[in-house]
Amino acid sequence: VNTDHFDVIVIGAGPAGALASIRLAQEGLKVCILEKSTFPRFVIGESLLPQSMVFMEKAGLLPRLEAAGFQYKDGANFSDDRRFSSIKFSDKFSEGPASTYQVEREKFDALLADAAVDAGADLRFQQDVRSVEFDQAGAVIAGEGPDSAFRHTARFLVDASGYGRVLPRLLKLDAPSDFPVRHALFTHVEEQLSDRPFDRNKILITVHPTCRDIWFWLIPFANGKSSVGAVVPPEELQKYPGSASDKLWAIINETTELQDLLQGAKELRPVGEISGYSSKVSRLAGPQFALLGNAGEFLDPVFSSGVTVAFKSADLLIDPLMRQLNGETVDWEADFAQPLQLGVDCFRVFVEAWYRGDLQDIIFNPPSDENPIKQMIVSILAGYAWDERNPFVTQGRRYLDMVAQQCA
Ligand code: FAD
Repeated sequence: VNTDHFDVIVIGAGPAGALASIRLAQEGLKVCILEKSTFPRFVIGESLLPQSMVFMEKAGLLPRLEAAGFQYKDGANFSDDRRFSSIKFSDKFSEGPASTYQVEREKFDALLADAAVDAGADLRFQQDVRSVEFDQAGAVIAGEGPDSAFRHTARFLVDASGYGRVLPRLLKLDAPSDFPVRHALFTHVEEQLSDRPFDRNKILITVHPTCRDIWFWLIPFANGKSSVGAVVPPEELQKYPGSASDKLWAIINETTELQDLLQGAKELRPVGEISGYSSKVSRLAGPQFALLGNAGEFLDPVFSSGVTVAFKSADLLIDPLMRQLNGETVDWEADFAQPLQLGVDCFRVFVEAWYRGDLQDIIFNPPSDENPIKQMIVSILAGYAWDERNPFVTQGRRYLDMVAQQCA
């Protein structure tokens, strides 16, 4: 059995785990990342929000990011075949970057993982974490590697295992999600969007023309390829026969604009499916562990908030963890969980309003560009969900209800 000791062990080398590891290694800690797969690996979640740039800048990642040649993104377009609306992130109320990238996650996650190694983290692939025990000194983390089992110790354990949800499963922290089960179908395509009326600098969100619970994303990459996907309630999905690919294209073909944009598009990977992805936990941290990114809570893909929340959770971890490792007592609820929850709760209110239809009505019939209310809503869509000067962060439901009444 392979046994090593670290200050911090991080489970998972996705955006949450890699960013936390970079920052902790930069603080001089001995950090190990245990990653189950080998990179590059596919994961869904390709459209970033401008708020995420703040966290990448803090980790010193901007030069690498700029050099990678990812697709620039400066806003979001919305269509339901009858109505069209364009959101420019530069219209936002909060300070901070107004643009970001759309990324193939194979490449983006590998870039972050390389940066973690360069910062000094010990990244080990094909390490499947299967059990965890806690004692006074920290945590014992055990599992299987390609050639041998491992049983490492660490002063602190970070679970960034995403959909693997290692600690929620092992510590029985899973709580019922606030959202019903929804199903996503997705693929990458080679497209001819450059010949068509399409702005590559924006994600296109299409609402199904007759069923507003169904929506599609079209996320262009820099290389003539795009990510396309649909989110569909299970009761709607069962109406479509055939394979996952048959279903995806049948639903796309019920739209006018998206169908036109994707005429002749060639599938580059088998259509993937993921169901019941919304998750929640009863506790986000304790004196010996913290849950980052999707291992904690995941709401819904509609506002592309997943990677931004993952980065924010990694950012919020650094200060309390460094203080604890330096001998201070940390209140993990007050110093980590609650500040993270502020933005997650804001996104939750927006997601609820989207599926209620209120936010769709606001987006398709928005207040004027000069109206601060519009700028405040754009701020949330740009990911600035922790800016307490924005009343949509602190009193989102009340403000969205008010605006929805005016836009109805
Ligand atoms: P992940 O990226 O999932 O990384 C977790 C890592 O942990 C993986 O590499 C995995 O191999 C590893 N792991 C798992 N189990 C173990 C184990 N037992 N031992 C060791 N390692 C393990 N987000 C966006 O920002 N923009 C989008 O456009 C977007 N679109 C989405 C569309 C859909 C349909 C869905 C479902 C989600 C979408 N998301 C999007 C969310 C995004 O996928 C996640 O929020 C994001 O990947 C979370 O990052 P993470 O680091 O927490 O986890």
